[in-house]
Amino acid sequence: MPSYARPLTSRLPQVGTTIFTVMSALAQEHGAINLSQGFPDFDAPAELLSLLDQAAKAGHNQYPPMAGVPVLREAIAAKVQALYGAAYSPDTEITVTAGATQAIFTAMAALVHPGDEVIVFAPVYDSYAPSVELQGGKVVYATLAHPDYRPDWAQVKALITPRTRMIVINSPHNPTGMVWTADDMAQLEALVRDTDIVVLSDEVYEHMVFDGARHESVMRHPGLAERSVVVSSFGKTYHVTGWKVAYCLAPRELMAEFRKAHQFIVFTVHAPTQHALAEFMQRPGWYEQLKALYQGKRDIFRQALSGSRFELLPCAGTYFQCVTYRAISEEGDRAFVERLTREHGVAAIPVSAFYPGGDDHGVIRFCFAKSAGTLERALERLIRL
Ligand code: PMP
Ligand code: GLN
Repeated sequence: MPSYARPLTSRLPQVGTTIFTVMSALAQEHGAINLSQGFPDFDAPAELLSLLDQAAKAGHNQYPPMAGVPVLREAIAAKVQALYGAAYSPDTEITVTAGATQAIFTAMAALVHPGDEVIVFAPVYDSYAPSVELQGGKVVYATLAHPDYRPDWAQVKALITPRTRMIVINSPHNPTGMVWTADDMAQLEALVRDTDIVVLSDEVYEHMVFDGARHESVMRHPGLAERSVVVSSFGKTYHVTGWKVAYCLAPRELMAEFRKAHQFIVFTVHAPTQHALAEFMQRPGWYEQLKALYQGKRDIFRQALSGSRFELLPCAGTYFQCVTYRAISEEGDRAFVERLTREHGVAAIPVSAFYPGGDDHGVIRFCFAKSAGTLERALERLIRL
């Protein structure tokens, strides 16, 4: 190490390597079936891959416009109009981003000032708190209490102060698979009315809501939409998590601030994928097929585990199933998933990784976005435990 004139003080002293990277690496090391990090083990539709090839060969290989290619922004505007009855201008209110992670970071960089408070709900997706802290913001934790993981609106109300700048919500929720109701949205709307709080709504699992329930996008609720930044991800929707393409919608004034930061964080996003996605988004019926695909996988997974010693928690959305394992082991969740990976050949995520204090309720998360063969092999191992 060189000796620095000033000590090199970490901006993120509490942060190590993300649990998703750690568990995927452990799965690989032990040749385990990887149900930890959330990504499909099946490929994107062949037609989408051909469109990518065609877009590159058609010469879409230089910087696209900063906010994203116009045909893609128009397709996104048409989508949210059709699904949620929401009107967003492709010119001024929609921006294509390098994944939802970048959209979330950029929204915070653009809108959170040093000393501002940002309310998040724990268990919480792991990128939110560090992204707030890098802006000098203060993270304030509301609780989604185990095992129901329902928001406690009286608690949220008590956490709001004059310094609250943003509330980050995520439904369907990673890792618990909970889905917020229209009443939750009404409660949130009532709490933020007459404040200057911005809502950042992470809706990357918007198409994975099961059993006939509907996704309560903030875009369905004008009183929330007018103060919200909404994020979705093509990675989840088209089985292309490695493309890292997502998008963000917000009313004009918020989006103008978002773009000021976006242009210096990433400037713009991989061009051929944007053209391919714009074309593929014209295919009818995709979102319904996707929902049916994942509901079917969830049902297979739950059906098989219902005959095991794992206890299933509800899964109303996302491609994650949480379980408890007290009948199998008294270990902490990290120790248990490590042993599950090493000795039984199935990797999972310990849900304690989603809590600032590492709260351990003995809950682990499996990703069921896997081919029928992978699920079958994993389930064979899990039901033997
Ligand atoms: N938010 C949530 C809740 C997620 O689960 C994920 C990824 N699994 C992201 C954001 C990040 O999405 P992306 O890969 O598009 O950056
Ligand atoms: N969001 C994915 C998950 O919850 C992982 C994404 C990542 O590895 N950063 O598993």
